[in-house]
Amino acid sequence: MSAVPIPENVFDVVVIGGGPAGLTAGLYAARADMKTLCIEGGSTVSQIAVTDLVENYPGIEEIGGSELVDRIRNQAARFGVQFTSGDVASIERESIGDLDGWRVKTEDDIFTTLAVIVATGANWRRLGVAGEETLIGKGVSFCATCDGPFYRDREVVVVGGGDTAVQEALFLTRFAKKVTIVHRRDRLRAVGILRDRASRNEKIHFVWNTVVTEILGDPSVKGVRLQNVMDPGDVREIPADGIFIFVGLVPNTKFLEGVVDLDPQGYVAADSHMRTSAKGIFACGDCNRKLLRQAVTACGDGATAAAAAQHYVEDLKGIAYK
Ligand code: NAP
Repeated sequence: MSAVPIPENVFDVVVIGGGPAGLTAGLYAARADMKTLCIEGGSTVSQIAVTDLVENYPGIEEIGGSELVDRIRNQAARFGVQFTSGDVASIERESIGDLDGWRVKTEDDIFTTLAVIVATGANWRRLGVAGEETLIGKGVSFCATCDGPFYRDREVVVVGGGDTAVQEALFLTRFAKKVTIVHRRDRLRAVGILRDRASRNEKIHFVWNTVVTEILGDPSVKGVRLQNVMDPGDVREIPADGIFIFVGLVPNTKFLEGVVDLDPQGYVAADSHMRTSAKGIFACGDCNRKLLRQAVTACGDGATAAAAAQHYVEDLKGIAYK
């Protein structure tokens, strides 16, 4: 088979997402000589970029989340990844000569590509209780790294029992005089090392089997209303200057509905090569259905997605080594 000439403005790979998964995919794709564009989120920021401390990335004992992202980005840029920013609104099929390609649309731009790697991650889930939306920025926060320093010598509530809730609660103890973790069960989901640190920290208090039913205060947070899930009549209010909500994630995959198969929670159902149900679209990192959402697994997924996309593009162009 002979190589098919591809128009100048067509990318081999467009990566959507500028977190560890997307940047690693870009790095690997560019190193494989793919013409690669990375679209970084216009209105969203990678979760790791607002993580104070990463201490489980192999080979790096401790690093700030934003520094880790910056380093991968610089490495990707060094190998020729082009960058732009914007929120992707849609992906549609596009014929490129006689090849199947994709058109990726943001609010301002349209990019044409042979393959797409989706690495859009996930966003913080909301509690959906009264006061939550109206008090965002007035005491309701989803980012301890961003807002923690405002709570020096204050009292804060953290909602959730996973790794994020406990890690961020520990971070908040640097500033707040009291951090109350409200969790809907009687045990934490977080890993042992975080559980141990939290239970040893004198500033951290736990309220078990309890949910937040309302966030109180006007014009800013003054407290939360709680309800015991074992005894729904047990309702009380506790004072708080801030409430930090870490109750899991919602994948950023709305624009993929009807394009690739998603699971019931909206995560991309990709295979072990990061292939989605649509030929030429790959997905990696936290937006995928998977067991473990970590920087290291995101990077691994990104590398795999890039290799799979490279083989796919080379096959399309007729230059694959078979
Ligand atoms: P997560 O593991 O899904 O935990 C969410 C927590 O919120 C759970 O404790 C859950 O309760 C609770 N929850 C969910 N919906 C709720 C609701 N409506 N009301 C009250 N509580 C609710 O999410 P995550 O902690 O954000 O972690 C996401 C991923 O990132 C995980 O894979 C995690 O391992 C990873 N991560 C790792 C690290 C680290 O390694 N240091 C740090 C941060 C995140 P139940 O326990 O009852 O389900």
